[in-house]
Amino acid sequence: MIGDERPMAGMTLTEKILARHAGKPSVQPGDNIWVDVDILMTHDVCGPGTIGVFHQNFGRNAKVWDREKVVIIPDHYIFTADAMANRNVDVLREFVAEQNLPHFYDVGTDRYKGVCHIALPEEGHTRPGEILLGTDSHTCTAGAFGEFATGIGNTDAGFVLGTGKTWLKVPQTLRFVFKGQLPPYLMAKDLILALIGDIGCDGATYQAMEFDGDGVFCLGIEERMTLCNMAIEAGGKNGIIRADQKTIDFVKSRDKSGKPFTVEQSDADARFAREWVYDVTKLKPVVAKPHSPDNRAYVDELKGATLDRAYIGSCTGGKMTDFRAAARLLKGRSVKIDTFVVPATSEVAKQLKTERLDGGSTLEEIFLNAGAKLGQPSCAACLGGPADTFGRLNSPLKCISTTNRNFPGRMGHKQAEVFLASPLTVAASALTGTITDPREYLA
Ligand code: SF4
Repeated sequence: MIGDERPMAGMTLTEKILARHAGKPSVQPGDNIWVDVDILMTHDVCGPGTIGVFHQNFGRNAKVWDREKVVIIPDHYIFTADAMANRNVDVLREFVAEQNLPHFYDVGTDRYKGVCHIALPEEGHTRPGEILLGTDSHTCTAGAFGEFATGIGNTDAGFVLGTGKTWLKVPQTLRFVFKGQLPPYLMAKDLILALIGDIGCDGATYQAMEFDGDGVFCLGIEERMTLCNMAIEAGGKNGIIRADQKTIDFVKSRDKSGKPFTVEQSDADARFAREWVYDVTKLKPVVAKPHSPDNRAYVDELKGATLDRAYIGSCTGGKMTDFRAAARLLKGRSVKIDTFVVPATSEVAKQLKTERLDGGSTLEEIFLNAGAKLGQPSCAACLGGPADTFGRLNSPLKCISTTNRNFPGRMGHKQAEVFLASPLTVAASALTGTITDPREYLA
């Protein structure tokens, strides 16, 4: 091939977004390109390192490239006496003051949000067709809004702070088509755990994972976020779902910027590296056994396995859709094991106090009456955290959890065993103290 001459081929949704942000008519997988970044998010764990890189490379008096495009969300180690964790939040505060940044959701203020990946859309920072980068691997969650969203390291993030650009290799795209209407006993978590079980934790390494099919578009926005959230657990560069009317309505209801956005979809002749097709009506509730998200088993294979704890929270499992599902099972019943409920954000926490199930008790009342413990909005025990973190596994417990990772030590103790499952399966299991199929309670 001579020069820039290329065969005319359609592009996938991910390729189209990257091409536009590189100022090119087209890109192909493997191209190395510079792209303009629309949003950079950082939090209390990686923010201090990112800020250090920025100061070191651009100077102590440098200003960020665009203060409107930087979003800072403390969420990980928040409600703790740990001095190092608290110092991290102080570093964010100092930087925000120094740079006069408007999008800071500080602890102890009315603006405090909680888990960054849920806070971003709630506060209108996710828009179709944009590039959103974050210093957190689950930044891919925002692909649910039809944008390119991925996690980056502190060094890259420090560079983005100074320039608004980053350098990317265009990934190949894999397409995952879910056909059919989701049965009431399944959730997005079952779909993504089934998929990761098929392709493995490295099955999509540095590839875009595009989710498609009526089984995806029948899902609400929050469930789509759960699908994209776990793209990284298969090694994916990003997860993405084209924006439909549900997406546009959600984004318009939250976006305060008034910026126009571009809704795109994969071309009919786009090249996908590989395609998987699932009939969701034939799937069963899934669990990922310790110690890897691809260690798949069906709930009926593990039925009766004893547990010590249940945990419902995180960016994967701490949204209203997750709590509505869990409340359906817990209403009027009592949990048999320690059960921790952690809303992802302050908005979710407020809604738990006001939203009623079938006009009766609020979701919060249902959880408390069932004997669950309710935590404050944050990542809490999803990433272990300091020893005083709410819900942390401080001993070798067996826990069933709506979170997204179950590597050794992820939720605290290195000998703890974490089973990943949907909020329905976690709630059913909390009621028996053993791994339990939610169909037993939904019949
Ligand atoms: S809830 Fe868990 S997975 Fe999500 S951002 Fe926090 S630590 Fe990471």
